[in-house]
Amino acid sequence: MIPRVTASVDLGALRHNLARIRAMAPAARIMAVVKADAYGHGAVPVARALRELHAGEGARSSPRQPWEADAFAVACLEEALTLRGARVYAPLLVLEGVLSLEEARLCLRERIEVVVHDEWQLTVLEGLPRGAECRLWVKLDTGMNRLGFPPARARAIAERIAARPEWVLRGWMTHLARADDDSDTSRRQAADFDAATAGLPGARSIANSAGIAAWPALHRDWIRPGLMLYGASPLPGRVGADLGLRPVMQLESRILSLRDCRAGDSVGYGGGWRCERDMRIAVVAVGYADGVHRATPPGTPLRLHDVEVPLVGRVSMDMLTIDVTAVPQAAVGDAVQLWGAALPAERIAGHVGTIAYELFCGLTQRVRFVHHGG
Ligand SMILES: *Cc1c(COP(=O)(O)O)cnc(C)c1O
Repeated sequence: MIPRVTASVDLGALRHNLARIRAMAPAARIMAVVKADAYGHGAVPVARALRELHAGEGARSSPRQPWEADAFAVACLEEALTLRGARVYAPLLVLEGVLSLEEARLCLRERIEVVVHDEWQLTVLEGLPRGAECRLWVKLDTGMNRLGFPPARARAIAERIAARPEWVLRGWMTHLARADDDSDTSRRQAADFDAATAGLPGARSIANSAGIAAWPALHRDWIRPGLMLYGASPLPGRVGADLGLRPVMQLESRILSLRDCRAGDSVGYGGGWRCERDMRIAVVAVGYADGVHRATPPGTPLRLHDVEVPLVGRVSMDMLTIDVTAVPQAAVGDAVQLWGAALPAERIAGHVGTIAYELFCGLTQRVRFVHHGG
């Protein structure tokens, strides 16, 4: 059976990107962010590709290859347990931290590190038995107003943690709100972070992808790349290739039917889109139930036989339509690319009015994933 919609994930490109990020921040360690199923790329194959498994080694602390991650980060415990269940034993951090004492116990058992971003979470962790080696990162809110302690609390938090000598304070982190623009916000956030944590023990971590690409002075001890690993640019107006990255995912479907339409004919639901001239229309077997946004406007490019052809009409649940007049050899069964190396997801996201992150994360169960090149 030929899969209808295929997402090909190039693990060689993934490794290239991690090595490229390492070259951008040679002094920093890398916490590869694989939350949300590695931004829709498959967390288990991605994590396995970024960290070699050596029998009997357990959680070795440093990588051997430039394309290996020093650690992984996920959003929640469930994602962390998925990786542990797949025998990914590398250092692993839950960015949202734990929600209950039961979750805290699971983290201990599985050697999963946790972020603490609020007083109530610290209270949960204090419910762990004495002597249990809890490994934690403290998150400070320096202006994002999402998660984290007020910087002024850092010293008090450090003291509370020091009261449990069996705990390991791995480090301090904060998150940049506007790393992708040239405002002064990032510099101010970093200054507040530095002032709040001056003299306190533990590593420092500030930069996500945009911070890594745009703010070398903020790389610090650990960087936390997500999007860039997958080959897309976190900076507006640029694509991954501009930063030396290679797109990891290629999304492809096939032509299901072809028809010749006359000027004035309407195509698709609502009848709102009409042919300006006679044209050849191909129906492609992919729709919003696969993760192609229904809001994708006519004119958005797809690739057929190395030619960019425009979307026409509305995206429906299982199908969409393209104008293939410029590709006379188009035939039923031909592959049509929605994004990939030659058609960056950042560009498509621009047409849709979203970001590449959301396109990657939005693919559904109906898409067949093929991982290669690992
Ligand atoms: C998701 C996330 C990242 C990765 O962000 P990218 O923009 O994808 O690089 C880094 N740090 C934290 C705290 C995150 O939640």
